[in-house]
Amino acid sequence: MIKIAIYGKGGIGKSTTASNLSAAFAAMGKRVMQIGCDPKADSTTLLHGGTPRKTVLDLIREKGKTIALDEMITRGYGGVYCVEAGGPTPGMGCAGRGIIAALETLEEKEAFSILRPDIVLYDVLGDVVCGGFAMPIREGYARKVFVVTSGENMAIHAAANIAMAVENFKSRGYASLGGIILNRRGVPREQEKVEELAADTGSRIVGALHWSETVQRAEELKKTVIEAFPESEMAGEYRTLAEQVLAAYGEDDA
Ligand code: ATP
Ligand code: MG
Repeated sequence: MIKIAIYGKGGIGKSTTASNLSAAFAAMGKRVMQIGCDPKADSTTLLHGGTPRKTVLDLIREKGKTIALDEMITRGYGGVYCVEAGGPTPGMGCAGRGIIAALETLEEKEAFSILRPDIVLYDVLGDVVCGGFAMPIREGYARKVFVVTSGENMAIHAAANIAMAVENFKSRGYASLGGIILNRRGVPREQEKVEELAADTGSRIVGALHWSETVQRAEELKKTVIEAFPESEMAGEYRTLAEQVLAAYGEDDA
C-alpha cells in the first residue's frame, strides 16, 4: 500500500492537487482512498460534486463507536474512497482532535485491510505540525510526505517548517520527505526560490503545475480537472504529476 501525505501552507492548493491526483490514480486503475485531515472537511469536495457529508468526528459524536465503515467512507469520482476527519468548531478545543479520532477509528474498523486501497492520500493542513496534524507522519500512517508550495515567501516558509518537522520524526522510523510539488503562482524567481528550498531541505521538486483558469472552472462545477476537462492541458499536468509522485515514492524504497 502506497501511503502519501500532502502538506503545505493554507490555501496553497493541497486539496485541489490531492483530489486531482486521486482522480488520476483512479484512472490508472488504482484503488484510491483520500483522507481529509483538515477541520474544514472540504478535502474531497471535488471528488463528490460538493454534496455535503458527515465527518468522522460528527459520526462519533452522534453514534459513539458504533459507526459503520460505509458511513465514514463514501465513494467519489472514479470510485475513490473519501473520508473527512472533521474537527471542533473553530476556537473550541484542539483542531487536531478530529484527525486523531478519525485515524484511530479507521484503524479500529480495519478500513485499510477491508478496502485494500493501493494508494492512500492524506490531505493535511500544514501550517501547524503539532498534535493531530503530525499524526499522519508520526504514527506510521503515511510513509512519504509531499509538500505543496509556490514561490511565495509564506508558502516557502511553511514548506521549510514542514520539511524540518518530517526530518525530526524521520529518525524514529516515521514518514520521510518524498519531495516538493511546485504549484506556481507566477511570482518572480519562482522556480529558483523553490529550487533553493529543495536544496536547503535536502529534497527536490518532483513535479510542477501551472496556475490555470481551468482549475477554477472545474472548481465552479465542483469537479476535479481530470473529471471536468480530461482533454485539457491541466489534466495532462495532473496525470504527469501522478506518475512523478509514484516514481518519487518508490525511489528510495527499501
Ligand atoms: P486549505 O489549506 O484552506 O485547505 P488548500 O491548500 O487545500 O487550502 P485548495 O483549497 O486546494 O488549497 O486551493 C485553494 C484555491 O486555489 C482553490 O480555489 C483552487 O481552485 C485554487 N487552485 C489551486 N491550485 C490551482 C492551480 N494550479 N491553478 C489555479 N487555481 C488553483
Ligand atoms: Mg484543503
